[in-house]
Amino acid sequence: MKTGRRTFIKGIGAASVMASIPVLTHGSNPSVSGGVPSVPGSSRMKLSYWTYNLQLRHTFTVSGFSRNTTPVVLTEIEFEGFTGYGEASMPPYLGESQESVITFLKKVDLGQFRDPFLLDDILEYVDSVDEANRAAKACIDIALHDLIGKMVGQPLHKLWGLNPQDTPMTSFTIGIDTPEVVKLKTEEAARFKVLKVKLGGGNDREMIETVRSVTDVPIYVDVNQGWKDKHKALEMVHWLKEQGIEFVEQPLPKTQVDDMAWLTENSPLPIIADEAFQRLADVAAFKGIYSGINIKLMKSTGLREAHKMITVARALDMHVMIGCMTETSCAVSAAAQLSPLVDWADLDGNLLISNDIYEGVEVIDGKVTLNELPGIGIKKL
Ligand SMILES: [Mg+2]
Repeated sequence: MKTGRRTFIKGIGAASVMASIPVLTHGSNPSVSGGVPSVPGSSRMKLSYWTYNLQLRHTFTVSGFSRNTTPVVLTEIEFEGFTGYGEASMPPYLGESQESVITFLKKVDLGQFRDPFLLDDILEYVDSVDEANRAAKACIDIALHDLIGKMVGQPLHKLWGLNPQDTPMTSFTIGIDTPEVVKLKTEEAARFKVLKVKLGGGNDREMIETVRSVTDVPIYVDVNQGWKDKHKALEMVHWLKEQGIEFVEQPLPKTQVDDMAWLTENSPLPIIADEAFQRLADVAAFKGIYSGINIKLMKSTGLREAHKMITVARALDMHVMIGCMTETSCAVSAAAQLSPLVDWADLDGNLLISNDIYEGVEVIDGKVTLNELPGIGIKKL
């Protein structure tokens, strides 16, 4: 794997240059690095981080914007000879950046904790370091979970008592584009048994008809708040049901709460919240407004809170979907550990990029397929 390691280091160097921000070079938290002997019981956790830019295979367009790259920050937490991997992905619309994540990580002192298994204590502290910064918090949460899984030598899904056979199919996302490109992307996605189609770009029927000209697999629709009128939205949802669509994600702007509740009440398809919420505390208020939630680690601050969100949503008899940003196999494999608990998965973020540096969860016959590697189930390429 020497070549892979060299590629990784080279990638990091290139990423730092591409970021054009001097402070965003390979770094580690000064308060916890160096000089600490690796003696069981007395070791300190060492947090390191790098910036990296993900190259997208195709220009990605959703309602509102297009992009070719996604900035991420990769983390490692070392403790007693074990290393946990984490990642923060910062799509531009969520307000975090490589700079803000690095600024946050510099403030975090994990060295005050002697036991990485005390996740409640550690993550409560991390959450208190500053407000917001959800992706920054997630990259610590993920690395900690990976670390403790490695320390006990078991994958997280096993520690949580989940059956790996219960993982769902994952959808593959088709962004808004011309019929020619949509057709090509749909043909390329033939190994997926479910597709997620982005709507809200003004060519909704054409998008669906183009995909349907290639395949009759189930389709999830994500409007990314792109519709404004609840009556037109309901009419469209009825049409989508006829086209074999399973549910509609975030059809109206998150601020149109009453319209959303009306649509959910009248809709023949489940209406799923995405942009409308971030954290655990938001979920309880959604009963009656949405029929389900799309959980993403970069919004939930990581695995620990995502797991709690699933429990709350189930108690409210709501559907649960687990999604991702454009991410490497690190964050995607972490989310996949929770996927036996959900109805639907949209875990294709690592498949949208051409410069992944990890190998982890796989999609086999369209299904999220977990491996037996400990922690989040990845290895560095
Ligand atoms: Mg969405």
